[in-house]
Amino acid sequence: MQKYAEAVCRSLAITIYGRSAAQHYFAAGERNMSEIANQPVLILLGPPGAGKGTQARRLEERFGLVQLSTGDLLRAAVAAGSPAGREAKAVMEAGGLVSDEIVLAILRERLSQPDVAGGVILDGFPRTTGQAEALDTLLAAEGRRVTGAISMEVDDAAMVARIAGRYTCAGCGEGYHDSFKQPKRAGICDACGGTEMKRRPDDTAETVAVRLEAYHSETAPLISYYAGQNLLHRVDAMGEIDAVTTDLISTIEGLRQPA
Ligand code: ADP
Ligand code: ADP
Ligand code: ZN
Repeated sequence: MQKYAEAVCRSLAITIYGRSAAQHYFAAGERNMSEIANQPVLILLGPPGAGKGTQARRLEERFGLVQLSTGDLLRAAVAAGSPAGREAKAVMEAGGLVSDEIVLAILRERLSQPDVAGGVILDGFPRTTGQAEALDTLLAAEGRRVTGAISMEVDDAAMVARIAGRYTCAGCGEGYHDSFKQPKRAGICDACGGTEMKRRPDDTAETVAVRLEAYHSETAPLISYYAGQNLLHRVDAMGEIDAVTTDLISTIEGLRQPA
């Protein structure tokens, strides 16, 4: 009977999540607790425009982890017109922070999906002390903890320049910049060959000051929060994209797995 129930669950999961994610999930289910405790939870901290998304995509491939961006999840909720998305829309457009309640609900939902069982890179989360504490509680309930928090350090002027020129491929999400990272062939995505590029409605001169202020007052205190737990690593994010990737890779390779 139990075997039958398992088979039904498997086929349901394959229908909902696709075969490889479902296999991943069931493989995770068969692993013991100490292995689960070793599935990394990496945090990329840094102001808007620091390069978190750009680097998370590269690290995802390098380390076999899943990038989890609360900004992307919120934009998907806005596009879907869900109640959370409707509430978040105006706040995001103005450059403020969406409430912890909404962000945590969206994150919890995403973390319960099978494809993230092998470990995650959190990009743009946590952004407040309340979110960081909630994450600790959430992980502790599963016998896990944050593996490391990497602060990507850029000055405010670089951040403004990076946000002003940012655009992405509508097809695959690959990030580009008017001056710092153009596709090899103008208008054609290097990653997927797509030709539709988009800019975010909140990447405007007006919101930049608000977002910067939110970063300094709400998110920067997390640097001390993680330093206090001996989990903080700093990476100079002012250099070229490839140089920052190299530093991030060596930082992550140097992290000790949690005991
Ligand atoms: P974040 O996710 O931290 O908000 P992004 O990864 O979206 O930042 O990067 C912001 C913009 O800056 C993008 O247009 C990206 O192409 C560009 N960018 C990212 N890293 C660098 C870098 N090291 N040097 C110059 N431009 C960069
Ligand atoms: P960026 O790195 O350029 O600030 P994100 O895509 O991470 O962009 O976030 C876009 C917007 O989504 C933020 O300005 C904020 O309104 C909202 N947001 C994203 N993540 C969070 C979070 N963890 N807490 C609160 N608001 C968030
Ligand atoms: Zn693309």
